[in-house]
Amino acid sequence: MKAPRFLYRRPDALEEALALLAEHAGEAQVLAGGQSLMPTLNMRLSSPGVLVDINRLVQLQGIAKRGDGIRVGALVRHREVAESGLIASHVPLVASAMVHVAHMAVRNRGTTCGSLALADPAAEMPAVAVLLNATIHLNSRVGARDVAARDFFQDLYTTDRGDEEMITGVTFPGAAGDECFHFQELSRRHGDFAIVGIAVKGQARSGRIGNIEAVVFGSEPTPLLSSVTSDMSIAPHTPDAALADMAHAIAAELDPIDNHQGRPETKRRQAAELLRRAFAEFRAAANV
Ligand SMILES: Cc1cc2nc3c(=O)[nH]c(=O)nc-3n(C[C@H](O)[C@H](O)[C@H](O)COP(=O)(O)OP(=O)(O)OC[C@H]3O[C@@H](n4cnc5c(N)ncnc54)[C@H](O)[C@@H]3O)c2cc1C
Repeated sequence: MKAPRFLYRRPDALEEALALLAEHAGEAQVLAGGQSLMPTLNMRLSSPGVLVDINRLVQLQGIAKRGDGIRVGALVRHREVAESGLIASHVPLVASAMVHVAHMAVRNRGTTCGSLALADPAAEMPAVAVLLNATIHLNSRVGARDVAARDFFQDLYTTDRGDEEMITGVTFPGAAGDECFHFQELSRRHGDFAIVGIAVKGQARSGRIGNIEAVVFGSEPTPLLSSVTSDMSIAPHTPDAALADMAHAIAAELDPIDNHQGRPETKRRQAAELLRRAFAEFRAAANV
């Protein structure tokens, strides 16, 4: 199939792009990497009246250190993030999750902020942004605002972003030296969207890993930040059964979507197994 008719605009300045989004609010969509938008147009799953191509907005490029965090501009491709030394050294969780995002051809064009804007429940970057509580930067013709990632994802493909707003960047908080992270997902083939995935972080202090936080994604409409981890901690002598109990307590919070990829109970079990493996890795690291 061919895409429906639309007006195509390729502004040279951010102000011009924001004016177009305001003028055509409700019928305009931003075109970034086009890796999700173009297929949905060609399959006629969406029909925006106007496409605002942001690829000439050079101020949206680049990965830079901002205070304690790393800011990724809206035109930064997944591949640049995967290859960035700044990302690897300051936000290692993003680097390890990026390995699972799509295939090289998609990573060459797709943008990390585009992934946040789309809010696909099975996408890796929204889950990582929620776990790290990244800051999402939004601009519109009337001003700018920052939204915590934990408030940004509202429902399936639905975010706090208004029709007139563009994501101009995202800032991931830099990791502290005593923090540890684990990212894992289950997918049919490497590079496919996750059926179920997990992102976990903890803090190594006095021979224990505490301050554990965990996000499960893929099985829910939005990445789910567990509410039962606050009392959890892992030491070198923590028995296997206790690790499994912790994993099952988190998985019990899930209300998975029942679809062709599995029944809710199957997805809960899959999530629990991924979490158990993460905790076993934390236990091995708990001595430091
Ligand atoms: C075969 C295939 C496999 C894939 N596998 C994965 C995967 O495993 N994991 C994964 O996470 N993704 C996967 N993707 C999606 C890929 O990561 C996309 O690139 C990404 O989701 C969207 O980024 P984009 O820059 O291409 O956005 P676009 O396709 O240009 O836009 C997507 C949507 O976001 C909006 N948007 C984009 N940027 C902005 C912005 N700055 N401000 C406001 N709105 C914006 C657009 O208007 C549109 O609605 C896959 C895609 C394909 C085609």
